[in-house]
Amino acid sequence: MQDGLFPEDELPVARPRQDVRLADMHRIYGVTQGAICGNCRHFVSYRQSTRWAKCAKTRTTASRATDWKARNAACGLFEAED
Ligand code: SF4
Repeated sequence: MQDGLFPEDELPVARPRQDVRLADMHRIYGVTQGAICGNCRHFVSYRQSTRWAKCAKTRTTASRATDWKARNAACGLFEAED
């Protein structure tokens, strides 16, 4: 069997859109050390037949591509929930 042109560990790996969007938030606003999105007032949770969450400070759509994870490292816009 022929080997590929490049070693597999050097191939670009597509990151999930959610990770890219979080990285953009960190690049633009910085990171709030020791905080997670799940404790931020801009983290909005929904529950119907399933559960999902969004960050109110980013563009959101009905797509899962804009879903947000509670365990994400918080960005610089973090505001603790009351
Ligand atoms: S910490 Fe930043 S990214 Fe996380 S929910 Fe709050 S505003 Fe959104």
